[in-house]
Amino acid sequence: MNNDLTYELNDLRGRGLYRSLRRVESAPGPRVTLDGREVIVFGSNNYLGLSTHPDVVDAAVDAVRTWGAGSSGSRLTTGNLAIHEELERDLAAFKGTETALVFGTGYMAGLGVLTALAGPGDLILSDALNHASLIDGCRLSRAEIRVYRHNDVDHVRELLVDGGRFRRRLIVTDGVFSMDGDVAPLPELRQFAADVDGWLVVDDAHGTGVLGANGRGSLEFCGVDTTDVVQMGTLSKALGAEGGFIAGSQVLIDYLVNRARPFIFSTSAAPAGLAAARAALRAVSTEPERRVAVLENAARLRNGLRAAGFEVPEGVTPIVPVIFGESGYTAKFAEALLERGVYAPAIRPPTVPQGSARLRMSVMSTHSAVDIDEAVGGMVEVRKMLG
Ligand code: PMP
Repeated sequence: MNNDLTYELNDLRGRGLYRSLRRVESAPGPRVTLDGREVIVFGSNNYLGLSTHPDVVDAAVDAVRTWGAGSSGSRLTTGNLAIHEELERDLAAFKGTETALVFGTGYMAGLGVLTALAGPGDLILSDALNHASLIDGCRLSRAEIRVYRHNDVDHVRELLVDGGRFRRRLIVTDGVFSMDGDVAPLPELRQFAADVDGWLVVDDAHGTGVLGANGRGSLEFCGVDTTDVVQMGTLSKALGAEGGFIAGSQVLIDYLVNRARPFIFSTSAAPAGLAAARAALRAVSTEPERRVAVLENAARLRNGLRAAGFEVPEGVTPIVPVIFGESGYTAKFAEALLERGVYAPAIRPPTVPQGSARLRMSVMSTHSAVDIDEAVGGMVEVRKMLG
């Protein structure tokens, strides 16, 4: 076995695709100790710095004291704690839906909702750059999957042409794309879904807490009526905790409770993360300055990189990709940048399409202007060094 596996791993190494773990030895701030050294982090999803917010941390600690470390069972057996339902009420109020359902992770929410809503005889239209949780959910559902070109609404229309012969038609998209940071054309997709009696599923892992006047996410940002939209999100990014959720109508949630296998067959989310997420939701509404800061920081990074001659796509989110294309060069670039004290992860296939390897930089509200300028300076030095 080991010989076989080593052969494959060496092949990955040869193609610049080998991955290994780096060890973070301090709490997730803008600067962390990484493998024994202080570095500035430009790849975290802790966009608002809430993971270490004192109220969020206190809430988690109190919850452990009140409820214990684990939940003791799945939601349908002994693991449906009052705190699950309290968080679900908060999430529903935040997302403007009747109710919500918490899953162990966002990945599980994606798998759960798609395998529950779609099956053989159904059609799923899926954006080419959707997150792996949606891709895997589509595959596991055994529905017919048609992948449309990224954010291409004409292609959606084309692929829906014989949609009438399917039992259900789902359009599935990230709200904010995790590796590109751009926003889906949600008004048009919502309209298409309505026109073909289809269902729109939006994974707003990266929009939740960050986009929109109240931080409700990409649908709020785009001014889309959320009636009948299946809203997915995670507690693990801007909310700084852990877990995933679906927000929608009571009927949808009742259906998921009966049909979503990752919800049914897994121990329910642990109390600490639930309480942390509740406190984080409060912070999102009482501390809008965090949202302003993260978006200002993103603009500073984008402008700084552009001024230094890097190609950076337009964007309105904290995710700033610097696309180099070649995996080996990207890995070398990230390595050299890390040596200069700036940690921005190299993202390579299969996480992104072939030929589009990149540094996926992202900012937090807690970065200072100096942090950002240091990162840009480091990028310039590395480019000079690598040629
Ligand atoms: N959807 C998107 C778009 C994501 O980027 C991620 C996390 N990388 C997830 C879902 C999964 O969320 P979680 O980390 O909570 O499992």
